[in-house]
Amino acid sequence: MSDRYLEFTHSAFGRQLASMMGLPSPPHLRRAVGGYSEQPLESRATLIGGAPNAQWGEAVLAALSGMGADLYVAPEHNGLAPIKFAATKLGVTLKGEPSGERFVPQAFVFDASGVDSASALRTIYDFLQPRISRLAAHGRVLVLSRAPRELSAVGERTAASALRGFVRSLGKEIGRKGATANLVEVGNDGQNNLAGVLRFFLSEHSAFVTGQTLVLGAGGAPLSQFGQSLFGKRALVTGAARGIGASIAQTLAREGAQVIGMDRPQEEGALGESMSRIGGRGLALDVTAADAAERIVSECGPLDVVVHNAGVTRDKMLRNMAPHLWDMVLDINLGAIVRINERLLQDGLADGARLVCISSIGGIAGNAGQTNYGATKAGIIGYAEALAPELARRGGAINAVAPGFIETQMTAAMPLVNREVGRRLNSLSQGGLPIDIAEAVTFFASPLSTGVNGQTLRVCGQNFVGA
Ligand code: NAP
Repeated sequence: MSDRYLEFTHSAFGRQLASMMGLPSPPHLRRAVGGYSEQPLESRATLIGGAPNAQWGEAVLAALSGMGADLYVAPEHNGLAPIKFAATKLGVTLKGEPSGERFVPQAFVFDASGVDSASALRTIYDFLQPRISRLAAHGRVLVLSRAPRELSAVGERTAASALRGFVRSLGKEIGRKGATANLVEVGNDGQNNLAGVLRFFLSEHSAFVTGQTLVLGAGGAPLSQFGQSLFGKRALVTGAARGIGASIAQTLAREGAQVIGMDRPQEEGALGESMSRIGGRGLALDVTAADAAERIVSECGPLDVVVHNAGVTRDKMLRNMAPHLWDMVLDINLGAIVRINERLLQDGLADGARLVCISSIGGIAGNAGQTNYGATKAGIIGYAEALAPELARRGGAINAVAPGFIETQMTAAMPLVNREVGRRLNSLSQGGLPIDIAEAVTFFASPLSTGVNGQTLRVCGQNFVGA
């Protein structure tokens, strides 16, 4: 469903009226038009800063120069020394930040690994405060900090936690121009996996992700190829006939995967159409069927990627909720996922398989009338955390994506007022598109997310509920 208000505010009259009345003017987000390229930041001005004792200069510069970024530093910045040291070691060219209004950085990347006290937080203020208004429309701010859970010193842990609030608030400030701010918390040796994560957060592949924190751990082989990273991989997507699932199937295929789309037998026609567009194969099978897990294993062979996307809502206040509405939602959205994975974990997965489950911000914030749905979507978050060590032992990962308000048939069925409120109450003042969820799923399905395991990423434009 199209967002008529957004289109209206981009007309001459609408822009004027919105400005006169102080109404939000949602930006047209800049989304990726194709797959991951080897150099997604080619010639884009990226200004790098850091704490004076920052530790990840080499990893950050290696990743950014590999992405083709035009690298700038601020000559008077007190965190310059470790960046210059790393640049010399790597043979990377840094340019001095030009003075004046005409320099419009596309991204700010700040290495906060050395921020170890409340007073040391001043360093990020000093770097970003004078420059933030010059960030380009659709620009990116990415802060890298140490993961609080791995820090034992009180000052270090406090400062690292403070950065979460900083990024959340900054995301709300810069969202009106389509820009995003996110935080990557780097665990021990996780900096070796920065190349893939930076590609996601600093490119148009993450257009609807802002105000979020992702923890990056160690492990996995260094990546040598970023485009077509799923080439030859076999991927199963449930609920692939339409909406978010169809978009996930398309995006995985874009990165080279051979996709098997699964949906209820009633949707066989729509599924066939969705699969024929991407050269995929359809499997008409209900996720709750007694033989679903067995048929997936026998008909799909060892899977490299499994995306549990099929989901339903059956909203009723708890006092009015009939048991069949509870059972149905619990079984489709959660029970079937657990059952299918149990079987796949026996002998249905290839080594290094990546699983992705679709949660929802409804599982984080809760919604009146959604006790069944909210329970399943919160359950997914705990499930991904619980199963992560098992997948890590196999060289793979399991993560979840929690969509906010996404323009699909599910949300088109909402009452008008709820729909309009749902769309606007986020930092980007608009609903996301299925492709936004598909991009996050594809990131988790690919080696770009090596080092990320057991986590849930909200793709919601920083929805104001549950944040
Ligand atoms: P959708 O348009 O309703 O599509 C869901 C697909 O899953 C449909 O093709 C549906 O088929 C299929 N499906 C339902 N039950 C199934 C079953 N038992 N076995 C196999 N396939 C089944 O929904 P969507 O908006 O794309 O949502 C996709 C996922 O994102 C869901 O898990 C949803 O909870 C989650 N999500 C969506 C939003 C949003 O704003 N749209 C927000 C948060 C989370 P039928 O048409 O036959 O039922």
